[in-house]
Amino acid sequence: MKFLCISILVTLFATAEAFAADTGPQPAQPGAETFTLGDFRITALRDAVNVVPNDGSVFGADVGPEAVAEVLTKAGQPTEAITLSVDALLAQRGGEAILIDTGVGPTIPGALASSLTLAGIAPEEVTAVLITHVHSDHIGGLITEDGRPAFKHAVIKISEPDWEWLQKQPAMAELSRVIAPQVKTFKPGEDVAMGIKSVRIPGHTPGHVGYMISSQGETLLDVGDTAHSSIISLAKPDWAMGYDTDVAVGRTSRREVLAQLARVHQLVFAPHFPYPGVGWIVSTNDHFEWLPKK
Ligand SMILES: [Zn+2]
Repeated sequence: MKFLCISILVTLFATAEAFAADTGPQPAQPGAETFTLGDFRITALRDAVNVVPNDGSVFGADVGPEAVAEVLTKAGQPTEAITLSVDALLAQRGGEAILIDTGVGPTIPGALASSLTLAGIAPEEVTAVLITHVHSDHIGGLITEDGRPAFKHAVIKISEPDWEWLQKQPAMAELSRVIAPQVKTFKPGEDVAMGIKSVRIPGHTPGHVGYMISSQGETLLDVGDTAHSSIISLAKPDWAMGYDTDVAVGRTSRREVLAQLARVHQLVFAPHFPYPGVGWIVSTNDHFEWLPKK
């Protein structure tokens, strides 16, 4: 009995320690789940997970950890931290291989390169990279471990406001310099590839966009970081999100975009929802719920 108690205590301490060390972006197993959308072959690519502590700094920044814990408890989830998936999307058609976002990159390390291999694509075969916004969990994979361009034959499309913003960030100076020769900017709302249009969704970063992929009457919207948690962001879309550069605009965007997606029953890819992050937003009274595609 004594031994058992000690072993439980040791386990508890070990868990507490592991928990403190295990917040932030962490490695995940590679994954590549494919489906067709008109004449596109779409693949959700797994990259990493991000464990966000429930400390009032990110989720529910205006209501505090207890209110967040209440929502998590109702959903049957642990309340100490929120685990987000970090994923990317691949759209292939003919000789085109278009990657939307690139994950956390080599420092964590992210599994995107292995996930691409599972999808049968080599990095040099990627023809275009579309960036939803320039946070590190979306652009980290643009460079290799030795600081070279990860997708050397691809054009890299970034919205004008986000490219301008990225170049002002000292911590990102090296990445900006390395990718600059491949970057082509666009105005949010413009077409970025055949069958792919950028969609202006302001608030998260200065030029945050989603991407609408359309083919033969079928559509899929990569919503970027419009909503981070399939539980909290949908149950409480009006709560402040600490990752948004403009909290008020982010909140309005989230509520409006989610309402629109639910209204038109739009198929969605959400890079931070549980992998593979493909499904629909459903409207329920004053909030929303996530309905994953089977
Ligand atoms: Zn993100």
